[in-house]
Parts: sequence; C-alpha cells; structure tokens
Amino acid sequence: MKKKYSNVRGTIDFSPQQNFIYESLRNESIKLFGCYNYQQLILPLLEEKSLFIKGVGQTTDIVQSQMMKIEGKDIVLRPEGTAQIVRYYLQNRLDKKNSFCKFFYIGPMFRGERPQKGRLRQFNHVGAEIIGSNSFYLDAEVILLALKIVDSVGLTKKELQINSLGCEDDKKKLAKYIKERLKKRKSRLCTNCQKRIEKNPLRVIDCKRPECRKIVKSLKLNKNHLCPDCLNHFNNLLSILDNLQIDYKYNPYLVRGLDYYTNTVFEITSSQLGSQDALGAGGRYNNLFNQLGGLDIPAVGFALGVERVILALDKIEVKPSPLVFVARAGSGLEEKAFSVLTNLRNSNIVSACDFRKKSLKAQLRYGQKIGSNFVIILGEEELKEKKVILKDMERSQQETVELGQLITILKEKIKKYA
Ligand SMILES: [Zn+2]
Ligand SMILES: [Zn+2]
Repeated sequence: MKKKYSNVRGTIDFSPQQNFIYESLRNESIKLFGCYNYQQLILPLLEEKSLFIKGVGQTTDIVQSQMMKIEGKDIVLRPEGTAQIVRYYLQNRLDKKNSFCKFFYIGPMFRGERPQKGRLRQFNHVGAEIIGSNSFYLDAEVILLALKIVDSVGLTKKELQINSLGCEDDKKKLAKYIKERLKKRKSRLCTNCQKRIEKNPLRVIDCKRPECRKIVKSLKLNKNHLCPDCLNHFNNLLSILDNLQIDYKYNPYLVRGLDYYTNTVFEITSSQLGSQDALGAGGRYNNLFNQLGGLDIPAVGFALGVERVILALDKIEVKPSPLVFVARAGSGLEEKAFSVLTNLRNSNIVSACDFRKKSLKAQLRYGQKIGSNFVIILGEEELKEKKVILKDMERSQQETVELGQLITILKEKIKKYA
C-alpha cells in the first residue's frame, strides 16, 4: 500500500480562509506599527542555542525541553523573538548609535516538544520591542498596541490580565516567599514543581496541573513584594489604563514562563480558545540586556500568536470583498466574457468566471458554490443591444444594464454592500 502523507504533528496548513485572516492580521499590524513609529526587523530562523539558555533561562520549559535543535550543532530554530532582537541590538552596538529603538517582527517560531492540544511545533508571532526606556508610558503603549492589533481583525471578545513581578530584588523576595510558604506542602505538588520550588519557585505559580493550582491559589499573592519604585511604576501604568478606559484584570498569579521578565507582565486571553487560551503576552525585561551583554538597558515588548488569533477568529464569519461572477448564456461567448472580466479586474472588482462548463445552469451552480454576490449574464440578444443582465444574489433582484454603465453601477452596488 502507498504511504499516505499528512502534515507533521504540531504544524498547521493554513486554508485559504485562514490565510485571509492571517493576511489581514499582517496588514493591519504593519499599518499600526507604522503609525506608532516602529521599524521592522527580519532576522534569521536560526540562532545559537546558548542565546536562549542565557536569555530565556536555564530552568524554563523552553530551554529544558522545547527547543528545536539542529542535530550535531549548537544551533536551534528560534523559539521566540525577544532574545534574538536583543542579540541584534547588542551585535550592532545600537546603544552607541541610537539607544532608543522600537522594532517589530512577524515570522515563524519553533518548539521541539511533543505537541499537545493547542501547542504547535511551528507557529507565527507578531511582536514588538521598545528598547532603551523604563517609562511606564511605554508599558501602556505596548499593551494598547497589542490590543489594537487583535481588535483590528475583529476579535473583540478578549481579556487583558496584568501583574507586576517587580525588579530583580522584588522577584527574589517573591520567590523566597513562595518557597517558604510551599515548603511544608511540597509533597502535594507535582514532581515537576517539587524540582521547580528549589531552582525557580516562580515557575510553580505557572503550573497548569490541578493539584498545584489548588495549593498556589492559597498563597494570597498581592503587591507586597514590590519596592516603592516598582509599586509606583505599576500603579502609574494601571491609572493610564484606567484613564484610557481599558478593561483589565489584576492577576497576582500571572508570572509568564520566561525568566527575563521584570515588573509588568500581561496576557491577552480569549474565551473562544480552549485550555491554551492566550492570544498573546508581553512585559518588561529590564535585565535581559545585562544577562546577554552586560549593559543596563530597560525594555518592554509583546508577542501575539498568529495561529491563536486565527483559531479564535475561525468561529467568526470573515466577510471578504463582494464577488462578481460572469456567466455565458450560449456558446462562443468566451471572448466576450474574458473581455468583461478584464475590465472588471482593471477596475479592482473581485471577479470570476468558469471557462470549463458549457451550460449556463452548470456555470451558475459553480458561481453559487464560490459565494458570488453578483452575477453578470452575457446573452446574445442583450449583447446585440450592448446590454447585459445583472443579478444581485442576496436581494434576488435582476436588471438589464448598458454594458458601458456596468462598472459604474457595480461599484455603486458594491459600496452599498460593504
Ligand atoms: Zn523593585
Ligand atoms: Zn506543578
């Protein structure tokens, strides 16, 4: 028997419908990034493994088990974009040239773990980074921008969760508190968390296992670990969001799975998705430059999961531009049909024809199948008088129009349609 091929587990084939959403997400985000004065970076898919071990963190899930390695080399397919952009900034000594930079990127990321539900081996990120300032206005800017991008493709049902981990000292204080409080109940945590509690207690908060979640909930976390500066930063950010009337939920249990975050962390979730409900996330990373290049440069950013947005939107009807179908009533009208089609397309009217089928009925059936909104029927009688039949499928209306007037009339109708 012949082998039946299918796509690799943990990858997605975008259908034309899904690609339509992807393209619109891409275009809308490029427009918005332009408006907010960000510059695009297109960086390689390959990076040195140690960049992520040092940047993302030795004990994180990404580094522990999720990197897609190139066999025999210290190279990986990039698991995320932030450490890579920091590498670019440091390599090009941008701190010496224009220390304040705003970058965005769109492209595929990879994970090498065994794919679970909602988790992919190859996925796309739309992300941005602001490098060189600790201003809480910029935390607000990236949150606003991430929400606007999600909004721009029509995903209105979403929730913003936000927390502050504080500076490196505050994080240590929080980790110590968690470790002390959980020590006695250690045996009730999952085996993974029993290890985490020694090496990286903050990661226990992130654990999705029910037994851990129950214990973590009892920790009564709040803003107490924050020093006065960090508390001030966080409160200022929240009041900006309040002033902008942006709905958010303060969630002291939100820590995110990457070690580089300091201060603000946030997540945008959608109830349209299942257990992996995050559309995207981000936060501040004021120590990553130090870890990777010994420089004290604060930064903040976010990344949205393109596939997550597509999955959440898939259940929502996406309305493409109205489609005009050209049908021929009678043989020998192919040339006329081709000329009408060319005129429609030259006027940017989305149009199609079926040159395979001969009978009008079969052509119209195809036209209906591809979702035509208008149908032009070319008939010999009408054409003698330089006229065609124009049908509005949704309104079930039919009229005979002058060929010379066709484009103008159609454009009017399409305008009303949108
Ligand atoms: Zn602090
Ligand atoms: Zn656990």
